[in-house]
Amino acid sequence: MSDHVLTLNAGSSSLKFAIFASNTPSAQAEMTGKFASIGRQPVFSVSSADGRSLDKGALATLDNTFDHEKLLALLLPWLAQHHGRHRIVAVGHRVVHGGERFEGPTRVTEAVLDELERLVPLAPLHQPHNLAAIRAVAEWRPDLLQIACFDTSFHRTQERLAQLFAIPHALSDEGVIRYGFHGLSYAYIAGVLPEYLGPLADRRVIVAHLGNGSSLCAMKERKSRATSMGFTALDGLVMGRRCGTLDPGVILYLMRAKKMDASAIEDMLYRKSGLLGVSGISNNMHVLQDSKAPRAREAIELYCYRAASLIAGLVPSIGGLDALVFTAGIGENSALVRQLICDRLDWLGVSIDGKANSENAVQIGSEQSRVKVLVLPTNEEAIIAKACRDYSE
Ligand code: ADP
Repeated sequence: MSDHVLTLNAGSSSLKFAIFASNTPSAQAEMTGKFASIGRQPVFSVSSADGRSLDKGALATLDNTFDHEKLLALLLPWLAQHHGRHRIVAVGHRVVHGGERFEGPTRVTEAVLDELERLVPLAPLHQPHNLAAIRAVAEWRPDLLQIACFDTSFHRTQERLAQLFAIPHALSDEGVIRYGFHGLSYAYIAGVLPEYLGPLADRRVIVAHLGNGSSLCAMKERKSRATSMGFTALDGLVMGRRCGTLDPGVILYLMRAKKMDASAIEDMLYRKSGLLGVSGISNNMHVLQDSKAPRAREAIELYCYRAASLIAGLVPSIGGLDALVFTAGIGENSALVRQLICDRLDWLGVSIDGKANSENAVQIGSEQSRVKVLVLPTNEEAIIAKACRDYSE
């Protein structure tokens, strides 16, 4: 038996896990798995480091009533049974909200858990699942080291102006500020940038994390200087189902003219907007690209228009642009989206090579591009595993 760390990443409708050796600094997981479509019909998949599907055993068929808690209660003993050679010595969790207090990975104690509970209203669709995962592990093995890794921590290096809303200061003082998210993904990209950019990595870089949830981060010296997400993960870019930036007057209109209450508005803005709302077809970029429907194309165009506008809007926070990095499901795989975004940024010195772009190459900037343009896979799990190893030592 060898020592391993388990990472858990509980999203709104998915639960991902990975197992890493604890005594080597490898960013490569030995096993990864996922429950998808939780809330409808959960589907389990698990694969080895080389991508081979592994035996699912008792998890091959799952009841459609199973929620995150129930699935975790099944997963933990399944891991022990099926992969007994992995002695788990620590569990690392992706936790979406760490507020202003948690500036880095933190060992979970009862007091920490209480503080994280108080942040639930700031991330109502994600934080409860993250905390449920921590509790499920504590019940399974009460003495196991658990580390919380926050999506907000990476952004705590921003200057005050980048974090402030122009609202009465008493509200800002009580924590109504721009926190920013996707910090584990940005931390991973910041870590590997020197491999691809050399000394340029420490200059002015914007990273576009384009997935179901999408956001941007402007970095200098590989630290966050500004980001497109704000108080919640609803702000900024168009997302799969989330609206992104919205005139707050629209919310007042929905309340007054449409008599919608907070839950109805939350449901509309978090689950029925974004690519799904605009297209009326799907939240999935791949599906929209394959569709001939004019509204599918409009949703893609809006996604790219907003992304280019917000990339340009972040440039003042870092005083220029030396490199643009695309990552996450859409950023890593959609040549069309990258092309449409970059076409709108040619005045900034961004130009891409069509062939390299269509091949999802790492360097997709054309020879005359003043700005380096890269496609890099993200690896949030590797950041969580590293935090666990640092604590275990
Ligand atoms: P999450 O935020 O759930 O982790 P991902 O980073 O996995 O999301 O991104 C999911 C998105 O990536 C979906 O919209 C999916 O359609 C898109 N995507 C994945 N592969 C492709 C592809 N080849 N072409 C276009 N879009 C893709």
